[in-house]
Amino acid sequence: MRVRELPLDSDYRDHFREEGIDELYPPQAAAVDAGVCDGENLVAAVPTASGKTFVAELALLSADGPGLYICPLRALAREKYEEFAAIPGLDAGIATGDYDSAAAELAAHDVVVATSEKVDSAIRNGAAWIADIACIVVDEVHLLGSDGRGPTLEVTLATLRRRTADPQLVALSATVDNPAAIADWLDAALVESAWRPIDLRTGVYADGVVTYDDDHTQVVSVDDPPQGPDDTGADGDETEATVALVEAAVAEGGQALAFVRSRREAERLAERLTDENFAATADIGMEAATVAEELRQAGTTEQGTRLAEAAAWGVAFHHAGLRSDHRAAVETAFRDRKLAVICATPTLAAGVNVPARRVVVRDQRRYTGSGMEWLPTLEVHQMAGRAGRPGLDPYGEAVLVGDPNTRTELWDRYVDAEPEAVESQLRDRAALRTHVLAVVAAGFADSQAGILDLLGETFYAHRTPNPDLGGVVGDVIAELIEAELLAPAEEESVELTATDLGEQVSRQYVTPETGTRIVDGLERVAGMADEQVTKLTLLEVVCDTPDMDDTYLGNSERASLYQFVRRRSGELTTALDEPDDFESWLESVKTARILLAWTEGASVADLVGDYRIGPGDLESRIERAAWLLGAAEALAEVLDLRVPVIAELRASL
Ligand code: ADP
Repeated sequence: MRVRELPLDSDYRDHFREEGIDELYPPQAAAVDAGVCDGENLVAAVPTASGKTFVAELALLSADGPGLYICPLRALAREKYEEFAAIPGLDAGIATGDYDSAAAELAAHDVVVATSEKVDSAIRNGAAWIADIACIVVDEVHLLGSDGRGPTLEVTLATLRRRTADPQLVALSATVDNPAAIADWLDAALVESAWRPIDLRTGVYADGVVTYDDDHTQVVSVDDPPQGPDDTGADGDETEATVALVEAAVAEGGQALAFVRSRREAERLAERLTDENFAATADIGMEAATVAEELRQAGTTEQGTRLAEAAAWGVAFHHAGLRSDHRAAVETAFRDRKLAVICATPTLAAGVNVPARRVVVRDQRRYTGSGMEWLPTLEVHQMAGRAGRPGLDPYGEAVLVGDPNTRTELWDRYVDAEPEAVESQLRDRAALRTHVLAVVAAGFADSQAGILDLLGETFYAHRTPNPDLGGVVGDVIAELIEAELLAPAEEESVELTATDLGEQVSRQYVTPETGTRIVDGLERVAGMADEQVTKLTLLEVVCDTPDMDDTYLGNSERASLYQFVRRRSGELTTALDEPDDFESWLESVKTARILLAWTEGASVADLVGDYRIGPGDLESRIERAAWLLGAAEALAEVLDLRVPVIAELRASL
């Protein structure tokens, strides 16, 4: 099937041809056959890089009205927005930034790109433009199975289907075990395919040899790990194997992605790889120096300097601790073939489009609260799926680094195995509290039966033979009434309403737990003498909420933080003997202390050095603090509480 045969405007067809899309890939042709251009609902479960975006574009461009493209991550939203904005005659909009708005400015666009959280919050804030949407695309719909994000996505989709007049639904998924269940839920046709534009070979490395799933083997010459106090530690052999595998790909003119378990490991591996002098290879050559210069100019932190130094050798590291502009610069440079290798944490695999000839997965286990755990098959498949750049590489190769003891296990878990099924996480109580409050506050339900009716349209209810959410929803309603966020209604026909406080908590897009903690903090602030209330006071309140990220507290910092807490205890809303979990409260105070220093003019470099926090983490905490303080101000208004300092604090963030 050719693009010129499609029922699209000729401007669009010309645009796609200019983009190199002429003949449709088989899964795209299957999507057209399934009616994606005729308003039919569709789930496309196909591998990475098999052209899902074009399937989405077909739906959006042939729909009878405005479209909404829902993405899990902001970086992805930006990437898609740029792709849509380049389509001639298409007016694309992007919703980023504040959570607490209806994003009314988005009403005028042909296509709006937004994260699922942003769509959820726009619905809660009564966004009228939602009702007009004719086509909804959900990217990475398999994230229905992730805790936190998943419940928001399924409740948002259930609500969207109620608030809009029968829009076309197109859901794009990685290859998962049960795409038919998702398709069934969405009343959609299913296009399921393992087709890739470029062949993928997956293999396991052990003892100097890679064995691939097409039965061929490859001998790799691996150095012994360096010895002595500076050696590469317990992962020495795996690291050297990774270096050799990366080096071989680059020597053949390819690029590589190397996945490791932690940020620190990503940086260490990058440092090790700088010894290989990839900058001397023809392609990367001169360009690496330009990238290094760009990175150097973009920032002055110690981490930024190290990143720039590595980039000069054609190597970069990539993880959530990096500033977002550094992350974006690394991705672009890699796509432009100005870097030979990126050493990354698994988050890169779920993110933006950075294909490479060879993907090396050095670590397949990572620390969780309860020890080292194997990564899910789906996650490793997503990493492997990054292998192979169409048009540039003859094939893609994904290699899992193991040893003679783990070889069979790696093969069974990741090469021979199917990815996991997507399972709903909605039964999680905290998720239900949030969404039950939201549903009532937005006026979508005014009784337990009404709530259950709406939740009956979720993936959870669809998947569970006897969902029986009645008991747990009843408990959650009782908890929300106890927290004064919901109240039994006084009118006869209505059973439940949200209190003014509950409504504001929902609109501000904070969780009920955060709302309650902020209210408690504000009430304490109201009882303090004005001169006791400082920026630290308010920062402690918002940092000690579940909606603020935790900040790691090292052993060596504990004593000094404890002294700080004792010295400034008069300004804090929590007494030292009060927290049930003192350690976690102390971590919150650490975050507050960092943010306080930031408002007092400390530079990113100072804070990174003094508090061992990544520049990217600092960036996200500042943003969260601004959001939570905004919420606190709105909640104070509902409660008619005066909060000194807050306006000044918000202005100084
Ligand atoms: P996915 O979202 O499935 O990971 P993308 O939609 O990002 O993949 O597509 C990957 C690449 O393939 C893009 O660069 C895109 O322009 C290109 N592409 C998509 N469809 C075609 C096609 N039919 N012919 C040639 N290139 C295509």
